[in-house]
Amino acid sequence: MSLTPAARQRYARHLSLSDVGEAGQLRLTAASVLIVGAGGLGSPVALYLAAAGVGHIGIVDDDRVDVSNLQRQIIHSDADIGQLKVESARAKMLAINPLITVTPHVARVTAANVLTLVQAYDVIIDATDSFATRYMLNDACVLAGKPLVYGAIFRFEGQASVFAPHLGGPCYRCLFPDPPTADLAPNCTQTGVFGVLPGVVGTVQATEALKLILGIGQTLVGRLWLYDALRMQTDSWPIAANPACPRCGSHPTLSGIVDMEAQCAAPISADEISVSDAQRRLAQTPAPLVLDVRDDHEYAAGHLAGAVHIPVDVLATRLHDIPAGADIIVYCRSGMRSARARDILRRHAYTAVSLAGGLLAWRQQIDATLDVV
Ligand SMILES: [Zn+2]
Repeated sequence: MSLTPAARQRYARHLSLSDVGEAGQLRLTAASVLIVGAGGLGSPVALYLAAAGVGHIGIVDDDRVDVSNLQRQIIHSDADIGQLKVESARAKMLAINPLITVTPHVARVTAANVLTLVQAYDVIIDATDSFATRYMLNDACVLAGKPLVYGAIFRFEGQASVFAPHLGGPCYRCLFPDPPTADLAPNCTQTGVFGVLPGVVGTVQATEALKLILGIGQTLVGRLWLYDALRMQTDSWPIAANPACPRCGSHPTLSGIVDMEAQCAAPISADEISVSDAQRRLAQTPAPLVLDVRDDHEYAAGHLAGAVHIPVDVLATRLHDIPAGADIIVYCRSGMRSARARDILRRHAYTAVSLAGGLLAWRQQIDATLDVV
């Protein structure tokens, strides 16, 4: 096998690097990488891996481009607002390099699909800002024996590593056996992120992915790389596998993929009601009104008995469907959209609380037969 004349021209600067060369470029061509998240971190990863000639790149995201993304998610343009992020990303990647294949996965990573996704690719990039996704990706990568290139950003600071127990390093759970509580796990939406930061961290992730494919240099397996943009300092710490790790340790206590979305749900506050309290309240007379604010297809798959269905995006225009002064328990899949709906309702003088953890928590704690999509 050899490179085509077109590929030879395109990758000339790789071919003249002795550590890459034609053999290395052919490895890149034959390689596949899955990028989970087409946002801030996913943008530079996708652009650089496409440019470098990674032959097959999959990209997972179910979100659409919003104007507030453009401050840092540089793969998307103003003209892409409202488009699926994976489609916008795919177009940019192919515009840079038409010699590669890009597979968009319009999906959210779940316990049900994560292993299938991970098994189809050589290297997996964690470019999400969700703890639930991060744990599920880690667990699937350990089970499938695939390296997970981790990156995370917070305000002005970032970190990166490569989790690969099969290459001698730790997994993510070796460092963090359990997810943080939601108050300790703010996301970018709540805390803000310096726009250039994901560019720096994502580029480090792309670098590690290319080194893993090429088999060159010292990767971040067994090291945590840290970056502080304000002080302009970088550091790296050795990180060791934990023999007691519940996932990759000598006596793992976890077997399949755990649905982390329910476990990582928001904490209970005055704005929320736990599923057990909600169940008690619903058994009382008069029972509160139950409002389902998910999309039509989610409601059709399964919902709580007697729930009124109004998707959150149209809630403000359909308040006339809710009796004035009603006492409402509002729910969605995991508690994010219902929190938004609760705020809308309260602004219109309703008494409303959001079901903590949403239907995922309900299914886990009350009714395992409930179909939640
Ligand atoms: Zn581990």
